[in-house]
Amino acid sequence: MKLLEERIKKDGIVLPGNVLKVDSFLNHQIDPELSQAMGEEFARLFKDAGIDRVLTVEASGIAIGVMTALTLHVPLVFARKKKSALINEPVYTHRVFSYTKKEYSDILVLQKFLPAGERVLIIDDFLANGEAALGLAKLVEDAGSEVAGIGIAIEKAFQPGHQRLLDKGYRLEALASVASLADGKIRFTDAADKD
Ligand code: 5GP
Repeated sequence: MKLLEERIKKDGIVLPGNVLKVDSFLNHQIDPELSQAMGEEFARLFKDAGIDRVLTVEASGIAIGVMTALTLHVPLVFARKKKSALINEPVYTHRVFSYTKKEYSDILVLQKFLPAGERVLIIDDFLANGEAALGLAKLVEDAGSEVAGIGIAIEKAFQPGHQRLLDKGYRLEALASVASLADGKIRFTDAADKD
């Protein structure tokens, strides 16, 4: 998606540890128009996939997730990273290791918001080692539903997550695919140049 690549080139900052900082439009301040364009692109890519529900994880997946769900006219549910006193009903939960925080968290969704027998589209902001996406996929499968696809705003194709998701047989669509962050330079893979 050209628009996203251009924005990454303009505002993305490469941090040590192969981390791309995009907090001016995706991870802290949010550009609503760009989020809408990303949601519409995910919706276009998965329009024939029979999506019943979009699932993401708080916080940065929510904006693009809601725009996708809005365009597909389906509900959005986001996994929480912390249990609160309000969560006093049965949950699906899975432990995932955070790439940026370097700590484990138990992501969870109330069972009533992940009914069985649905086709669920997983949306997230980044793909690195695949922990978050695989954790979300586990929640969907524990619920007795099917992962209809995984949509990622920015994948770092040089890290293991991309292949791990394909090896599991999931359909993966990334709007921007970063080939390398070496020497502080952002390089995209040609394959992501879809438009
Ligand atoms: P994974 O679970 O695939 O290892 O990493 C994906 C998760 O870690 C995303 O939900 C995102 O929050 C975070 N993440 C991984 N790599 C990056 C990165 O380069 N930049 C930012 N901002 N977040 C990242």
